[in-house]
Amino acid sequence: MEPLHADTLLRVFQLVTTMLALATLGGAWHVKGERALWFWAGAFAAAALTQAARALAIAVELPRVFWVVGHNGGLISALLLLLGLRVYLGRPLDWRWPVAFTGLTCIGSFTLTAWLGQFWPSLTLTLLATAALTIPAAHAALQAWREQRGFPMLLLAADLIICAMVEVARGLAVSPLIAETRVQLMQYNAIGLLATIGLVIGQALAMLLLLQDRALRQIERLIEVDVLTGLLNRRGFDERLRRLLQRDDAHPPVLALLDVDHFKRINDTHGHAVGDAVLSGIGERLRDTLRPLDLAVRLGGEEFAVIWAQPEAGGDMRLGERVRTAIACQPFMTTAGPLAVTVSVGVARAHGVQEAPEALFSRADAALYEAKRKGRDRVLLAA
Ligand code: GH3
Ligand code: MG
Ligand code: MG
Repeated sequence: MEPLHADTLLRVFQLVTTMLALATLGGAWHVKGERALWFWAGAFAAAALTQAARALAIAVELPRVFWVVGHNGGLISALLLLLGLRVYLGRPLDWRWPVAFTGLTCIGSFTLTAWLGQFWPSLTLTLLATAALTIPAAHAALQAWREQRGFPMLLLAADLIICAMVEVARGLAVSPLIAETRVQLMQYNAIGLLATIGLVIGQALAMLLLLQDRALRQIERLIEVDVLTGLLNRRGFDERLRRLLQRDDAHPPVLALLDVDHFKRINDTHGHAVGDAVLSGIGERLRDTLRPLDLAVRLGGEEFAVIWAQPEAGGDMRLGERVRTAIACQPFMTTAGPLAVTVSVGVARAHGVQEAPEALFSRADAALYEAKRKGRDRVLLAA
């Protein structure tokens, strides 16, 4: 097999990282608000720029010690990748130690080269230090994948784990411990570089997929939320209720349907904006009344629903009364002054996991209809 030429590969590496830096910088500019992308663009740019600086140092015949600027590029890239990942995951940046570690290693790299007059100690040092920064990044990615799954995070974690191994292997391979001749050293270095080029492209793909994944999750969340109240909307409700009813549980869910009494009067007397404020206030009170496991929903208009996922046995009336009094207990403060509002409530407990969501809904709805018919501002249990 033809030997690999590290110089050619370095040019490929420079080209690839330049392209990726430009693409991610453009992406960060375009996406706005995704701070992690700036760090990741910086990671690619650091590799591209330090390679350019190395080429320049050689071209203008700067002392050979300056050539090791390229060694430090990978280290700075690993630092920015780690910080970017922390930003993406919403973790504290904790930048001081990694930055100090990177700075000291860079100084060490130049000092070693000036002192020993050889390149390999600097390359070994920076590659091992790069691995030391890649390992926490790989760990964070792996942990994030365990928490929320998803292929993009798995790809990034796997890429970073292999990256750390390649960095250690390449760092040791170029030392006299392993490379017996200069030709061997060059060859090992080139193989490591080739692997790094592939891994850097893998990282860029993982980052792209991560951003896409996050955008999709945000859209999924948004289409399930009601804009006015911030509660789940009908789409979110249908999905949760279906899942809850499929669950094999000793405590089948309880559903309450709420309809505001004479809501049209509020709109007619005080205007639509005041009506909106009342609806939004109802959303807030429902949220405040429920435990994190329970769900409050705005089904549409002035109709709401509550699902208790794990209700205690036999307390259905109490649950219904709790939401009714949460609304009726005190007036809503609006621009038209305090407004007393009541709701009628129909409550139904699922007949075990086999009951269809539509059947449960329709029983609660019939109870709500009865509550309205009997004079409103009351809770009725379904048959
Ligand atoms: P009932 O006690 O029988 O439920 O009487 P109601 O007036 O509450 O019932 P009705 O169904 O006649 O009126 C519901 C009103 O809710 C009519 C509609 O204009 C109003 N509404 C629906 N959606 C919104 C909204 O998003 N904002 C506001 N302000 N009003 C809404
Ligand atoms: Mg209604
Ligand atoms: Mg109504």
